[in-house]
Amino acid sequence: MPPARVVAVAPGSPAESTGIQPGDEVLALNGEAVRDVIRYQLQADEPVVELEVRRGGLEQLTVVEKPAGAPLGLELDSPVFDRVQTCDNHCPFCFIHQLPKGMRRSLYLKDDDYRLSFLYGNFTTLTRFTEADLERVVTEKLGPLYVSIHATDPDVRTRLLRNRRGATSLRWLGALLDASVEVHGQIVVCPGINDGAVLDNTLLGILDRFPRLATVGVVPLGVSAHTTEPDMHEHTADAAGAVLDVVGRWQSRFSDALGRRLAFAADEYYVLAGRPFPDAGQYEGFPQHENGIGMARAFEADVRAVLAGAPAAGIGPRAGFFAWVDGAPADGYRAPRVDDASRPARSTSEPTARVAIVTGQYGEQVLAPLLPLLRTATESAVRLVPVRNAFFGGNIAVTGLLTGRDVCDALASQPPGDRYLVPDVVLSRDHFLDGMAVEDLPRPVEVVPTDGASLVAALRGDGGFADRRRRAGACDGADEET
Ligand code: SF4
Repeated sequence: MPPARVVAVAPGSPAESTGIQPGDEVLALNGEAVRDVIRYQLQADEPVVELEVRRGGLEQLTVVEKPAGAPLGLELDSPVFDRVQTCDNHCPFCFIHQLPKGMRRSLYLKDDDYRLSFLYGNFTTLTRFTEADLERVVTEKLGPLYVSIHATDPDVRTRLLRNRRGATSLRWLGALLDASVEVHGQIVVCPGINDGAVLDNTLLGILDRFPRLATVGVVPLGVSAHTTEPDMHEHTADAAGAVLDVVGRWQSRFSDALGRRLAFAADEYYVLAGRPFPDAGQYEGFPQHENGIGMARAFEADVRAVLAGAPAAGIGPRAGFFAWVDGAPADGYRAPRVDDASRPARSTSEPTARVAIVTGQYGEQVLAPLLPLLRTATESAVRLVPVRNAFFGGNIAVTGLLTGRDVCDALASQPPGDRYLVPDVVLSRDHFLDGMAVEDLPRPVEVVPTDGASLVAALRGDGGFADRRRRAGACDGADEET
């Protein structure tokens, strides 16, 4: 097992006082060669930590004394020190198979590792799950976990995963639920394959076999222009409406049988079908917010609360385990969206300038009805700049998959001097999915956290968000900033 490598040591931390440096390799904590940050955290929480490290081939043992539960102050190069369990499925709807060539390598990693499900909320199909994994999840209480169900019919699930073990691996879901592990599920709906009667049957199967499932999100497949799968079709408006009808019927049945709705449809379905989003209360706490379920209503709730002088509801991505783990960075899985160190204290834009909110095509449909409300936050004119996703093409219209090139093209025709607000969901460490840096855009932009309260704060000019100036010569073909 390759050792974890130290990438940063927090100033003033217990680890720094021992002389540990970036580049050192961590071999063991308290005699245990830890496999991942979960085991690392358990050992690092102890008041006395024996650290075996290697530098330049020489091993040394250091003893760190600190209050129990206090962080050591090390940042490691990966959340998993042994190998990430990769997926052996070949789902025809897999978005990784639909990525264009030449993107950063980490985007092509097909993981199917329950540890990454626990750490980051990644969905796992359980096709590579083992008895030993179950024992560890249960004994170390590693929940919640997130499981891709897609269909409870063994043949349909095998077809969707293109893996024979797809037929049997949901037995692990039953075992996890029997052991009282909190599990959230997901159904990616592929029209003509697992919608209609199959979706109906899957939700019946959940009620019958997995009634302890916390929630199941029903989400549409994404079909990019790069797909090579002839059977993968995007939803029509009618197909989206039919999915909403099935989910609505089952919400009633689950409510009658279990006292909770359990199944929730993605926001995209309401946009596609041209139907209003359910009221915020119907999302029962937004447990699948990060899966695009209830985002629109949560956003609106935040905007209304903050404009009324109330605290924001604060519904957003669940930071989960990773919020408190002392150890590995999220790079490669969930890197920070912006580099905090480069944030200025306040926006440097003219507060009276007109404001343009950059968003995707679905984002436009969510934000457009809120514009009259948003305009009350500022004296300035506010408009949307919707960006079409030409990079991925197909039906890819969510804001989070916008690339720098498409945003660049959209901004190039926009007037200089306005304030441009860009949601941080499009960035990973200040870079778009296609590798373009935010400073390469043809207009200076303010990067705003993707929630309603932050957008209102930005409109009021009191957000203190990252204000990015354009780099000279960047984004070829765009007008020069004046
Ligand atoms: S399980 Fe996930 S990563 Fe693996 S092929 Fe299917 S969609 Fe892709």
